Amino acid sequence: MSRIRGIETRIPKGTALVRNEVQKRIDDHTKCKDDAERRQIVELLQKLPKLDKIFEVHKKIGEGTFSSVYLGSLRQHSKLSISEKKWFAIKHLVPTAHPARIEHELRCLQDMGGRNHVIGVELCLRHLDTIVFVMPYIPHRKFSEYIVDMDAAELQRYMRALMTALKHVHSFGVIHRDVKPSNFLYDRENKRYLLVDFGLAQRICPAPDAPAPPPAHEATPETPVSAAAARKRPNTEEEGGPSAKRVALDLSTSSRVAVPVSQPRLPVHLTVKLGPCDAGAAVGTACACAGRGAVCAGCARRPGARASRAGTQGFRPPEVLLKVCAQGTGVDTWAAGVILASVLTRRYPLLRAAGDLPALAELAALLGTRPLQHAASAMGRRLVVSCSLRGVCLRKLCARLRAPPPGPPPATPPPGPPPATPPRARPAPCGPCRLPPDQCLCPDPNVKATDIRGDLWWGGFPDAAFSLACGLLQPLPAQRLTADQALRHPFLAQPSPGPGPGEDS
Ligand code: ADP
Ligand code: MG
Repeated sequence: MSRIRGIETRIPKGTALVRNEVQKRIDDHTKCKDDAERRQIVELLQKLPKLDKIFEVHKKIGEGTFSSVYLGSLRQHSKLSISEKKWFAIKHLVPTAHPARIEHELRCLQDMGGRNHVIGVELCLRHLDTIVFVMPYIPHRKFSEYIVDMDAAELQRYMRALMTALKHVHSFGVIHRDVKPSNFLYDRENKRYLLVDFGLAQRICPAPDAPAPPPAHEATPETPVSAAAARKRPNTEEEGGPSAKRVALDLSTSSRVAVPVSQPRLPVHLTVKLGPCDAGAAVGTACACAGRGAVCAGCARRPGARASRAGTQGFRPPEVLLKVCAQGTGVDTWAAGVILASVLTRRYPLLRAAGDLPALAELAALLGTRPLQHAASAMGRRLVVSCSLRGVCLRKLCARLRAPPPGPPPATPPPGPPPATPPRARPAPCGPCRLPPDQCLCPDPNVKATDIRGDLWWGGFPDAAFSLACGLLQPLPAQRLTADQALRHPFLAQPSPGPGPGEDS
């Protein structure tokens, strides 16, 4: 008894100790974070007394590689209640950001902002190297929180707003270049949307194989300021960060990756290389290694192509991964397609490969090697792969990933002879993958992925949503839907989709 009591007392005591210790560490961590944040705010206000005069800065609400964003309100509203105050997002740019880039970001906000779900700017303050943009604040949640239960109607509204914002930006001849959920803020309660962060935006590249275009406001032939020279962003950057040199070298080395989507796994390992480009072959400069499964040392020493890589891992389209110089607004619509596919499959991040060649391998596994190779060759690049993959059907993938988890195994049958039931014929496995139909993810060779079979629903979404995703994820930019075409696509143009008539899979 006493032993039992001992155990009873020891366990809760021990557990409580551990819990207290963990709680203490969490509290310490929060306190440190709060202290560090408070110090940053005080420092900012000391460096920029004008800001302190006009605004109360309450807390940090966001952080990117190149800025910290704080929540602010007007000092003259300090006596007002929380609901009466007007709130602002105060973006403090890191002092190492290139002045031309900062000016460019500000111009984008001024010229395009405040309409069509594009963030505007209320005020810009500067003292020496301390610069802040004061913008309207929009409360928002994390993407990973709302994709869990986003339905077809909500997805339609969300994508409509994103495409409206992109159409607006593109109409100014500007590519945003960093379209991703954390730059498209969604206030779910009030159905408000805002495209933010024009830090990597650039003017549309005018001619093929021209050097990377300068920021929008400097895009004159006389002042070719490379975007690469501007803002340095390790993970979301062009030329910058630790990978810039390695990417050039990677062009001569193979990359072996496991395929992207964690579940269900595609049982394939794929090696992808960039071969000597077809353009070189056309002018008779192709090396003997052209078309082979390896790049010779001579070719490996050739300078890498210089094309813009600005953007974020997982959202870069094939033309960026293939270092094609002429890049256009398709860079943004591709990224919007990745967002749409993430919601449909409820997987975020959907594409995870780091590095350009692993990312190409990941895309090949998703879209198939042949479409990607065709696109590469149409853009003057040669993509050499170790094996041919058919890609996966996004519709089947979504239905599979969204299927409810399998229930408990059936209760053991009562003893005795089993009831006489006629033997059921097993459905024939899929020819290419040899998996039973309910596990096969092969695309249907008789149906184009962008076609719409109006009455079908997959994982709670109408067929049209998948058609749109496939139209946005076309590997060749010329075949990719523009923002304007996307807005006219049946999934976005037609009234809100109701609940599906039944699932297909
Ligand atoms: P960076 O260039 O450093 O990525 P962003 O402009 O993307 O900076 O802002 C970083 C984060 O700050 C955003 O992901 C978002 O969470 C928050 N943020 C930015 N602007 C606003 C805004 N207007 N309202 C609310 N939060 C914002
Ligand atoms: Mg950002």
